[in-house]
Amino acid sequence: MLTGMQIAVIGGDARQLEIIRKLTELDAKLALIGFEQLDHAFTGAVKEKISEVDFSNIDAIILPVAGTNLEGQVETIFSNEKVVLTEDILSKTPEHCTIYSGISNSYLNGIVEQTSKKLVQLFSRDDVAIYNSIPTVEGTLMMAIQHTDFTIHGSNVTVLGLGRCGMSIARAFHALGAKVKVGARKSEHLARITEMALTPFQLSNIEKEVSGTDILINTIPLPIVNAAVIAKLPAHTIVIDIASKPGGTDFRYAEKRGIKALLAPSLPGIVAPKTAGQILADVLSQLLSETEPDRKGNGK
Ligand code: NAP
Repeated sequence: MLTGMQIAVIGGDARQLEIIRKLTELDAKLALIGFEQLDHAFTGAVKEKISEVDFSNIDAIILPVAGTNLEGQVETIFSNEKVVLTEDILSKTPEHCTIYSGISNSYLNGIVEQTSKKLVQLFSRDDVAIYNSIPTVEGTLMMAIQHTDFTIHGSNVTVLGLGRCGMSIARAFHALGAKVKVGARKSEHLARITEMALTPFQLSNIEKEVSGTDILINTIPLPIVNAAVIAKLPAHTIVIDIASKPGGTDFRYAEKRGIKALLAPSLPGIVAPKTAGQILADVLSQLLSETEPDRKGNGK
């Protein structure tokens, strides 16, 4: 149980509702910032403006998956108000206050460092990233189906990267009957791709390897689908880039060449916010309950 714990949930999409539901069930007291347009009410949770919250009582701050943007603004789907997380706000929180987000950036890292706070990036945990790859795959399949006039079955699919998402995506497209090749740079990844009965290729050969691709799926958060790669794609290829913003595709050049290239952020939040939210809620409730000794040590 999280009895006695005060948590600020700042912004986010429908995934945060599962987190709010779970944490209130566990008896935490929540300040909901950026939720004034949400019709639903949760017992134990109060909608507040960021300026109204007494941060000196806050044990934990929960940000959306993306954290903040580079100016500190937090995305708020359920509010029209601009919500900004500042160094000043964090400096008002107790020493033990921990900040939770999916991923981070230079702004968030900077204010956390300046105020000597602890930041937990949930998506750097393998378990969260692997569970989250499940709705990500379903979202990628949805995009492939929506944006093509041919079946996945029998099509040539190239996946870039054999990380947590790349592996799940390659496996799912293979299971649907696609001819899947996967580009990776590590020899153990090339071995695993072979073991999965897929066609491996070394990323350094990407320009040669993409030439017969119908659907190109990028999971590598680097400019890998550059102009030289796009120049080798057949005109009908669709590029689905799931890597974190700004993706790994030269979208300007793709448009110039008439290749359909789509940046596809936050797929779990779009196709399965309930499941994606439950994944985060489960791990957050576990992590928050482990912080109890810190709070007790601070007289709470
Ligand atoms: P991951 O497990 O870290 O995989 C990243 C992949 O990129 C690995 O295959 C890695 O290969 C490769 N890579 C990284 N640096 C490289 C480099 N310099 N050269 C070649 N390959 C490189 O991450 P993930 O969990 O699969 O997530 C992949 C991306 O998708 C991330 O940007 C993540 O934020 C994003 N994501 C998006 C959604 C969505 O809805 N759009 C959902 C989940 C995740 P090595 O092992 O060789 O480094």
